[in-house]
Amino acid sequence: MTTEQIGTQRQHSGELDAGIALVTGGARGLGAEICRELAAAGMHVVAADVLFDLARDTCDQLVADGYEAEALRLDITDAPAVDQAIKALVARLGGIDVLINNAGIDKTVAIDEMTVEEWDRITAVNLRAPYVLSRAVLPHMRDRGHGHIVNIVSTAAKRAWANASAYHATKWGLLGFSHALHVEAREVGVKVTAVVAGGMRTPFLLDRFPDLDPGLLQDPRNVAQTVRFVLSQPAETVIPEVMVLPMRETSWP
Ligand code: NAD
Repeated sequence: MTTEQIGTQRQHSGELDAGIALVTGGARGLGAEICRELAAAGMHVVAADVLFDLARDTCDQLVADGYEAEALRLDITDAPAVDQAIKALVARLGGIDVLINNAGIDKTVAIDEMTVEEWDRITAVNLRAPYVLSRAVLPHMRDRGHGHIVNIVSTAAKRAWANASAYHATKWGLLGFSHALHVEAREVGVKVTAVVAGGMRTPFLLDRFPDLDPGLLQDPRNVAQTVRFVLSQPAETVIPEVMVLPMRETSWP
């Protein structure tokens, strides 16, 4: 390969040059930071969330800052609604270049106190939905010969703590799904990355644990910048897994 060809390949690596990014849970927390990073990198971002008003506020702020963003009302546990939304986005915007499976929920409760409904809800959001969304976008990405799916995992996929059994099961599962998807998707030119995040200063932790020292956590922007870095790799390179931890948190050694 000549230097010129390598240069051309680099230019064409750029999912971030323009392109469409669908971010689940884009209304707040890490999802909102990812929307900001990718919009600032030149992408048109679609922030999909059940918290539609908040997603709209997030996107309005991005548009006011000169970026391209739109909110989408979507419950990712509703598989037919996900399929329909993706079809509509592809038809209107011409394709989806990047899917960020970011939305996630947790319930702090002992195994024998958790209800089956709570277990099902957590698995539906954290594990089934990334599969449903990936299944829906993959054929479009395959047809265009490129695309990138990023799954937001957690240190909860690497070790366990008490009262988070469904969360651990789903994040461990999501890490496994992400690697399995990577194997199949790279065959058709689509990249897949699992971003294993440590504790972040988002409502996910701060709302549930008001006594938690925020100084032990990291700014979600740091993880969003990692997502951008992962997406910016040259066409010939993929990062299947990356871990981003706060310096002081102890959930991973
Ligand atoms: P958050 O609670 O602040 O935001 C999650 C977003 O997902 C919310 O806007 C929520 O409305 C949305 N969402 C929930 N259920 C949905 C559904 N059914 N359909 C559509 N949207 C839905 O959480 P966060 O901290 O920003 O978490 C983002 C991701 O990062 C999650 O996958 C979480 O597991 C992961 N994570 C978080 C931490 C942390 O310390 N905050 C650490 C590691 C990994």
